[in-house]
Amino acid sequence: MAHTAASVDQVDVALVGAGIMCATLATLLGDLQPGMSFSLFERLDGIAQESSKAENNAGTGHAANCELNYTPEKPDGSVDIGKALVINEAFEVSLQLWSYLVEQGILTAPGEFLTPVPHQSLVWGEAHVRFLRARHSQLSAHPMFQDMLHSEDPARLAEWMPLAMKGRQPDQPLAATHVARGTDVDFGRLTRFLFAGLTRSQQFHLHLRHDVRGLRREPDGRWRITSVDLDSGATREVIARFVFLGAGGGALPLLRKSGIPEGRSYGGFPVSGQWLMCNNPEVIAQHHSKVYGKPSLGAPPMSVPHLDTRIIDGKQALLFGPFAGFSTKYLKTGSYLDMPRAIGAGNLWPMMAAGWHNLDLTRYLIGQVLQSPEDRLEALKLFVPTARLQDWTLETAGQRVQIIKRDPKLGGKLEFGTEVVSAADGSLAALLGASPGASTAAATMIYLILRCFSERAQSPAWQAGLARMVPSYGHVLAKETDLLRSVRARTNSVLGLRG
Ligand SMILES: Cc1cc2nc3c(=O)[nH]c(=O)nc-3n(C[C@H](O)[C@H](O)[C@H](O)COP(=O)(O)OP(=O)(O)OC[C@H]3O[C@@H](n4cnc5c(N)ncnc54)[C@H](O)[C@@H]3O)c2cc1C
Repeated sequence: MAHTAASVDQVDVALVGAGIMCATLATLLGDLQPGMSFSLFERLDGIAQESSKAENNAGTGHAANCELNYTPEKPDGSVDIGKALVINEAFEVSLQLWSYLVEQGILTAPGEFLTPVPHQSLVWGEAHVRFLRARHSQLSAHPMFQDMLHSEDPARLAEWMPLAMKGRQPDQPLAATHVARGTDVDFGRLTRFLFAGLTRSQQFHLHLRHDVRGLRREPDGRWRITSVDLDSGATREVIARFVFLGAGGGALPLLRKSGIPEGRSYGGFPVSGQWLMCNNPEVIAQHHSKVYGKPSLGAPPMSVPHLDTRIIDGKQALLFGPFAGFSTKYLKTGSYLDMPRAIGAGNLWPMMAAGWHNLDLTRYLIGQVLQSPEDRLEALKLFVPTARLQDWTLETAGQRVQIIKRDPKLGGKLEFGTEVVSAADGSLAALLGASPGASTAAATMIYLILRCFSERAQSPAWQAGLARMVPSYGHVLAKETDLLRSVRARTNSVLGLRG
């Protein structure tokens, strides 16, 4: 790292946040341009301690196999599969990047962060059974989902998800789908493995327990990032050509601090989460899939209930949830002042308007917060009819900050996706939102590179580099069946997925 006379470090790229997003971006950029220098600041004392930590997220390799909120029902009873195709494609991009990194020896043992776990949907009641039939019929007609199985036969369902079927009412109309090529991802481990690769380079400087407090543009257009060493209280400054705010829930306040006009009207609505984690090894051993259901009325899309086999640090676990809640913190380890502090002139109106237009969500969250252990057991019993309270422990999950945007008609709008917000000159970008999240890290970071490094990204060297890491780069897998098959054959073989 070069030093100026005033001993301010100068780097090509400054990153804020030691989660999956910064890890993925630095890995991609480091491969595209060997020798690029990085400084990464993280306020906590370890890698992947917020949303990317395995216990803080559901670890679903989101590919739209089982998540019913990605395939909304249309008024005529048919199903819109457009979003499912986009999400499936984005996950294939992640799988290709991880395969490349395995082949390069950067990720050594894919089985240590990625486990084949079938993805299933389970619904009950005539209307939902009809919906799942239509969903399966449309999805399985597409090459991306052609291996999806469907059944309304309780005996078949009992083979697929024995724990969910044990003790269930025999006269209940039920339906399920099953995709064998599903995954559970330990994003915490994956992030740590990526950081192990990054920190091997002398050009990568990791500063743990450094809280980024200031961002200021220099006269030459670069950014001066000011952080505080939380142990010594000392200030560390770095000047960078490009800054990525991959700070999870902490990205919004930093984006506002940067003062770029593109970020001025954004606000954030935090939704906290809780899981029931099974503490009985006998129950855990009876379930081997991710079973997603239909959300209850008024529930936000990320509150779809699911019963999930997890592999966390190599150990099998079982979780059910999430139960949503409200807290004004933007990070699980954040402050209750996060939300009030992030309100300012530019986003006050969008935030108030979004609150007014989402009273259903507010009601839903209040209902969730007021739930008793018995209420949660009732919700769990819809998925595990034989569940007993003593086998399950309530744990706090990660915090998600949903995006609030200015809207010409409504004043402000709440959104549940992810969005890259960047400066017009591409010198700074922030990632807001949390869904579909870590699963789409590779596709999202490639999008960011194309947007913020637009000239270099079009050079033959970077184009070749992107195609080397992600062979489907520049193609649409959803439209090119032969390529889809060859890409999947490779990732199945390198990552040990069920084909
Ligand atoms: C309950 C829940 C369930 C989820 N389930 C899934 C799932 O099943 N599948 C999936 O793909 N995704 C899921 N996600 C989303 C996924 O976890 C996130 O999209 C992803 O982990 C975000 O990664 P990140 O690197 O952006 O943020 P994080 O992992 O949160 O990292 C951000 C880092 O920035 C640091 N930071 C913040 N502010 C500052 C500052 N000022 N200075 C220095 N450091 C700072 C934080 O300490 C943190 O370590 C889920 C999320 C939640 C909360």
